[in-house]
Amino acid sequence: MFYCGHSPIRIVCFLGLFVSHPLFAHEPTVPTSIENYPLVQINKRIYIVHGPQDLPSPQTRAFMNNPAAIMTSTGVIIVDPGSSLEIGRQLLAKIRQVTDKPVIAVFNTHVHGDHWLGNQAIREAYSTVPIYAHENMIKRAEAGAGEEWISIFNSMTNDAVAGTKAIAPNIGLKGGETIDFGDVKIRIHHTGKAHTNHDIMIEVVDEKSVFLGDIATNHRVPSSDVPQDANYKGQMEAIREILKTNAELYIPGHGKSGGKEIPEASLQFLEKLYASVQKYYDQGQSDYEMKQKVIDDLSEYKDWYNFNEMGKVISYLYLEIESNSFEDQASR
Ligand SMILES: [Zn+2]
Repeated sequence: MFYCGHSPIRIVCFLGLFVSHPLFAHEPTVPTSIENYPLVQINKRIYIVHGPQDLPSPQTRAFMNNPAAIMTSTGVIIVDPGSSLEIGRQLLAKIRQVTDKPVIAVFNTHVHGDHWLGNQAIREAYSTVPIYAHENMIKRAEAGAGEEWISIFNSMTNDAVAGTKAIAPNIGLKGGETIDFGDVKIRIHHTGKAHTNHDIMIEVVDEKSVFLGDIATNHRVPSSDVPQDANYKGQMEAIREILKTNAELYIPGHGKSGGKEIPEASLQFLEKLYASVQKYYDQGQSDYEMKQKVIDDLSEYKDWYNFNEMGKVISYLYLEIESNSFEDQASR
């Protein structure tokens, strides 16, 4: 999850204010990229680096997701190797501390650049490693989505992502597949348009664990804000579907992993948000008129990351509800 739009310029300006302020002139620069976040074993086979939730900055060097490794008897499966060549290399170095087995596969949950630009580092070390993703993500990547993300990240991080090349996944999935890696079985879930039109959720069957991608995040306002791709109703549906796996561990794209309370909290947020916007829409209010009321209705979430972006979320959801109501009228 990640807001692009006008954010990079605003954030760069905002950071500039801080860096140039005399109060901050003697502050040491604390590196907060992946090197400061440990690779933690979370169950028998799964290791995760829980990254920061902050938007890309020179300090984080664009690191902001949860790269992970699944250990099999023949090798390592990597999920979402991060935002850049550098982050992907450092992830591999962390994995090397735990096992000397080769990387045998990579999965990318969706095309947002914080999740997959580290592919380059894995291919640099394992030139033929298969990289799996939804087939719609591969189309996006081949059409230049990665280059756009690299440019956005460079503008937000003083070029911390320079040198990164977008390496598109090469094995397309549709959802519903079960992939056998010997002693580890991976099941792919895709329920249609949700956070994007190509999210995959990755179930590690015997570990009762699910990688959610950005379908659900922890303590973070769900953003599904690209109208041609995303759909809040679809995102709620995807969460309801994945809860049916009865998994014990859910790994979100951002924020700490945990039990079913993680996707349930995102679902509850979306249900309340949807009901609030629908209520004011039915009263004939514009998105501008309802904005503060919806924010007040959702005030229990005010400490979630990106809550300050709620205005944008409300505008997108307003358009979605408007388009749903036109479709309802047309089908009558
Ligand atoms: Zn995302």
